[in-house]
Amino acid sequence: QRPLVEVHDLQKHFVIRRGLRVRAVEKVTFSIARGEIFALVGESGSGKTTVGRTVIGLYRPTGGTVRFDGADVHALSGSALYAFKRRAQIIFQDPYASLNPRMTVGEIIGEALDTHRLTRTRKERQERIAQLLSVVGLSAEHAGRYPHEFSGGQRQRIGIARALAVDPEFVVADEPISALDVSIQAQVVNLLARLQRQRRLTYLFIAHDLSMVRHISDRVGVMYLGRLVETGPTAEVYRQPLHPYTQGLLSAVPIPDPRRERGRQRIPMEGEIPSPIDPPSGCPFRTRCPHARPICAEVEPSLTEVAPAHRVACHLY
Ligand code: SF4
Repeated sequence: QRPLVEVHDLQKHFVIRRGLRVRAVEKVTFSIARGEIFALVGESGSGKTTVGRTVIGLYRPTGGTVRFDGADVHALSGSALYAFKRRAQIIFQDPYASLNPRMTVGEIIGEALDTHRLTRTRKERQERIAQLLSVVGLSAEHAGRYPHEFSGGQRQRIGIARALAVDPEFVVADEPISALDVSIQAQVVNLLARLQRQRRLTYLFIAHDLSMVRHISDRVGVMYLGRLVETGPTAEVYRQPLHPYTQGLLSAVPIPDPRRERGRQRIPMEGEIPSPIDPPSGCPFRTRCPHARPICAEVEPSLTEVAPAHRVACHLY
């Protein structure tokens, strides 16, 4: 079966001043099967959020294509675009900024229902809002309140209810828990995972921390400086990370049971991510890589399959 989402050679540049170009995303290719959770992971500045926003149609790509159910997302117009906007939704990182402070929770969710004319009567609309609130662990009484009356975790639940209101098939979760207290992050991740199973949703789950996506994603893609440097089944990438950057990221994750993962030593990653305005020649990771060799400065490694479904962009392989 054809993947639901196919991203091919995606490129997104932002011109910030005359002649100054931020190369936010370069040659990114991946696909997401129906019902799959694909996690995109990387530090800030890696381009993962730009990928998510381009995939959902909020940004136009500089090059490459995004296909949703076979159709080029950025060529859609009229009723096909309208249908796509219902089938594909986004949950934003910052629930504080993404909810209109002057609208009640009921109005926020109701607006999404109205845009796609999903309810016919006032009563049906109210019932649907109450049902959506209950699905995300809130109650019907919350519909009359304003976003500022809720905690961060509750606000993110409201954002999730708004996204689900239109019964989407595909959800881009753009760092949905990064702005939340650590104590409630797991609750929101568990909620997203449960909803995905119950509704057979397909997720592009964006996170900066590998530990957040370990237990919920089927496959993971690691981004560095606008490039996808490694992709593979999540368990496989955790068991045997191949790219020196993935190894460095994983070695920084606390190990719950040290006996099980003996031998995994902390791998130093020196320095900061270089500027995407002036990225290094060759391999983008070479300025921080403990294994860099002369070829790494000259030739950019391409993403190559080295084990079944496990791809890496590195000259070591
Ligand atoms: Fe390091 Fe070279 Fe591999 Fe890049 S290509 S990650 S610099 S070894």
